[in-house]
Amino acid sequence: MIDNPFFERWTTPFGLPPFDRLRPEHFPPAFDAGMAEHLAEIAAIARNPEPPSFPNTIEALERGGRLLARVDKVFSNLVRSNTSDALDAVARLYAPKLAQHRMRIALDPGLFRRVADLHARRDALGLAPDQRRLLDRHHLNLVRQGALLAPAAKARLAAIAERLATLQTLFGQNVLHDEKTWHLALGEGDLEGLPGFVRAAAAEAARERGLAGGYVVTLARSSVEPFLTFSARRDLRRAVFEAWTRRGAQPGAHDNLPLIREIIALRAEQARLIGYDDFAAYALDDTMAKDAAAVERLLLEVWAPAKRKAVAEAAELQALAQADGLNGAIEPWDWRYYAERLRRERYAVDEAEVKPYFALDDMVRAAFDTAGRLFGLSFIERRGLPLYHPDVRAYEVRGRDGGTVGLFLHDNFARTAKRSGAWMSSYRDQESFDGEVVPIIVNNNNFAKGAPALLSFDEARTLFHEFGHGLHGLLSRVRYPSQSGTAVRRDFVEFPSQIYEHWMSAPETLRRYARHHETGRPLPEELQQRLLAARNFNQGFATVEYAAAALFDLALHRHAAPESLDPAAFEREVLARIDMPAAIPLRHRPAHFQHLFSSSGYAAGYYAYLWAETLDADGFAAFLEAGDVFDPALAARLERIYAAGDSEDPMALYAAFRGRAPRIDALLKQRGLAETGV
Ligand SMILES: [Zn+2]
Repeated sequence: MIDNPFFERWTTPFGLPPFDRLRPEHFPPAFDAGMAEHLAEIAAIARNPEPPSFPNTIEALERGGRLLARVDKVFSNLVRSNTSDALDAVARLYAPKLAQHRMRIALDPGLFRRVADLHARRDALGLAPDQRRLLDRHHLNLVRQGALLAPAAKARLAAIAERLATLQTLFGQNVLHDEKTWHLALGEGDLEGLPGFVRAAAAEAARERGLAGGYVVTLARSSVEPFLTFSARRDLRRAVFEAWTRRGAQPGAHDNLPLIREIIALRAEQARLIGYDDFAAYALDDTMAKDAAAVERLLLEVWAPAKRKAVAEAAELQALAQADGLNGAIEPWDWRYYAERLRRERYAVDEAEVKPYFALDDMVRAAFDTAGRLFGLSFIERRGLPLYHPDVRAYEVRGRDGGTVGLFLHDNFARTAKRSGAWMSSYRDQESFDGEVVPIIVNNNNFAKGAPALLSFDEARTLFHEFGHGLHGLLSRVRYPSQSGTAVRRDFVEFPSQIYEHWMSAPETLRRYARHHETGRPLPEELQQRLLAARNFNQGFATVEYAAAALFDLALHRHAAPESLDPAAFEREVLARIDMPAAIPLRHRPAHFQHLFSSSGYAAGYYAYLWAETLDADGFAAFLEAGDVFDPALAARLERIYAAGDSEDPMALYAAFRGRAPRIDALLKQRGLAETGV
């Protein structure tokens, strides 16, 4: 216990967690001590003999739980980025304990009495706008967790939260299990159609799995998608596709389908106890969208034109496949392959020709320099810091005045101990009410390694996307920790990330940073033109696979009888109802839909990406209208959104940046759906 780093002050550079000294066995005692300390702090607030005041209640709440937050942040990052059997076991043990802990605080009657008393007098307290919003939010959070209910209902809510935490942890672990245990080994004769970079990545994946000299396709998106795009072997494409879409749905000990039924039923019960008809109504009440009708309106607005476009795309691919000698309809494992061939034919854009211009290091530099031009940030690599994996790189981030504004960790490569997908997270959030605290922000990607690592156009966009979230954390300038950075409403959180993607494909960026990794020559102007012209290509497919998943999410969380839910049958039912084109699968099938089931964060919230896209398309159009994608006045107004965190209402923030409310036209145009008439 004495040499547990969590019980020491960290004297590491930037106060970084001392990763080199952290062991899995340090977490349980640190979690236990963190929860005990937090409960003692809450008890002191609730039992304070002084009448409630903003400082002795709300600020005291913001100040509480420091040790627990520190442990929890390190743990939740490592268990996703670099897990082990030992960390997974801690997660299974502590997820329900932490849920129980949070509910214990949320349902503490003494604490709620004080918060409610302040809330009732909120206009007379002389609060600044960020404080007023903070008070409202603390009050709302407690009410939304059941603070107003009778003891029996509260006890049931606490039990539900605890069980959900267990189920959600298992769900994520089951997906990772299936991803870790499956791979397709390829012989020299199985490589037909695969360009050099796909072969190189497959060789690297084989090396990592101890199969040096061979080639392996894994179930990481960065391995599957290129294989489906290029492999001329229909039988192998099918095998990979089926394994990919079966993740989490293998009968046996790691089957997620029974977990889904229980999760959905518990969420529905939770919503009803708190006074809502269903979980979607409960979740959406605290978003920009406000209700399911608004979400459905947006999804259906894109659904019809997207499907028309996808049907037209399917017909073109079918013709190509027939000319190729394929009998019968194209299947989901054929779509990417023929789409890529059509793309090459129509725009003469060949992914294998493009990729050498998108070296990872160049794109990282592009993302950093863009933040320099827009927001005055600079990034200085810091080598030799104790980090949790040799692939991770650390950068000190400096502001206009040269002062340190944060530390940025970049963890870019896929590995077996890492969750799939791409995400931003933090080891420490910015705040200033008890002295300035600078954030430690991390971006995780799952790119394939290579010498050098080369990205597809889409992967470069993902890099910018996550970096946009990263800037939301780094540029945060708020007083209170619970308003920091990305702590905004769920359907606003993708705006800072998605608008940042636009700078990746801006001609200014491509001209400067898209350089051939061998010759150093810039992306030829005419190739760039073809690349940008091809941007709307296949957007019917992309919009349909996404919007269908969002419609499925919404339907699932409005299910009338979730106790008898059969997830597989319900998936078929929803797809039939919306008349899903047969050759397009859902972007995420239920059994590995981690947005919905690894946590509650995006449950009834997968639409948030499209909601935010309305804002990002409309928002970036402001720069295009100004005739300068680095327009300083607009950049300064945009920075305000990155800085504000949750200290202001998101719609008010957006309107202050844009000078008006958002409009959907730019989104439809961006996806090439506007001109798809009857
Ligand atoms: Zn995002």
